[in-house]
Amino acid sequence: MTDITKDIVLAELKRIAAPDGRGNIVSAGLVSDIAIQDGQVMFALNADPQHLKAMEQLQAFVQQAVAKLPGVKKAMIALTAERSPTREPGPKAQAAQTVRGVEGVKHLIAVASGKGGVGKSTTAINLALAFKANGLRVAVLDADVYGPSMPKLFGITGKPEASDATGKRMKPMSRFGIEVASIGFLVDETTPMIWRGPMVMSALTQLLREVAWSQTDVMVIDMPPGTGDAQLTLAQQSPLSGAVIVSTPQDLALIDARKGLNMFKKVNVPVLGLIENMSYFICDGCGKRHEIFSHGGAKAEAERLGLPFLGEIPLDPQIRERSDAGEPIVATLPDSPHTAIYRKIAETLWQAMESGSGMKPAPRMVFGE
Ligand code: ADP
Repeated sequence: MTDITKDIVLAELKRIAAPDGRGNIVSAGLVSDIAIQDGQVMFALNADPQHLKAMEQLQAFVQQAVAKLPGVKKAMIALTAERSPTREPGPKAQAAQTVRGVEGVKHLIAVASGKGGVGKSTTAINLALAFKANGLRVAVLDADVYGPSMPKLFGITGKPEASDATGKRMKPMSRFGIEVASIGFLVDETTPMIWRGPMVMSALTQLLREVAWSQTDVMVIDMPPGTGDAQLTLAQQSPLSGAVIVSTPQDLALIDARKGLNMFKKVNVPVLGLIENMSYFICDGCGKRHEIFSHGGAKAEAERLGLPFLGEIPLDPQIRERSDAGEPIVATLPDSPHTAIYRKIAETLWQAMESGSGMKPAPRMVFGE
């Protein structure tokens, strides 16, 4: 049986007229990112709340059209009643909106990657612990709503409590002296989640603003992997002091890292540098350093892009095993050479945030919608 692809689904969707009669539903910006897994096609249709009835009919129609395509086992089409973030902003929307700071939090830094599996979350938690080891007050916001890993990495179970009698705000969870909020504390880990940009934003806004954070010098945000709409909106709507991009040395990942860089450029968030993760491997048996991928790619790429290269972290089973066990290396092996690397990167980042350096010095930014 032929495999179903995004292009095939898109081609089919382009044949369906938009409800306002102008163009098709794809060109009208009604279709979200399309996810395909094992023949299951998932996406959302952006509904105008004033025309929900018509949208429900459209949803049923689209559902049938997609389900009929060869290779499709199941078509799951959600309706979301939000405006598409991909539409060009109209003149009114361009009347700029200021991104509000988060009460009590001095700097927010995003840890991002062009794709999944490069060690973004592992880097985020160890950097957070490194900031802490360097004497700062630290919080972690797990914005990776597609695959929240902070509960596991922190080794925290249980649910957050309300911070006061009104129940409007939530207390952050905490371990290793670091406060942490994650959607993973609120939903069952095994529940697959389909998120659309605006839903991601409202989940993030809650974690950011409806958690009673203590006074914090730096909040590390573990971003969702990739550079799609959801990531862009997130980067745009959080008051970030800067971002770091994590990449593995393989060329492919570097190309993805470049996408990450461009994403932050688009929304004027300073990229503070590139971290090469799983850079080289020190063999247990012989103690020798093996450069299993074409190591050094990130450094050369950073230079080419005019970005600071922040450092390289080896591929080490200790890093993985400790992460898996909820005992991250910077917390549990404070004197290891790896901890020293993370702490040095944290120091560089802190200085960059404090001096407002990076590609554009502007912790408080103004954006059109
Ligand atoms: P991402 O957040 O980019 O999807 P993760 O942080 O979840 O990636 O890492 C993916 C896997 O790689 C995890 O099993 C993690 O423990 C492992 N890993 C990450 N960095 C390293 C490293 N430097 N050495 C060994 N394993 C690592």
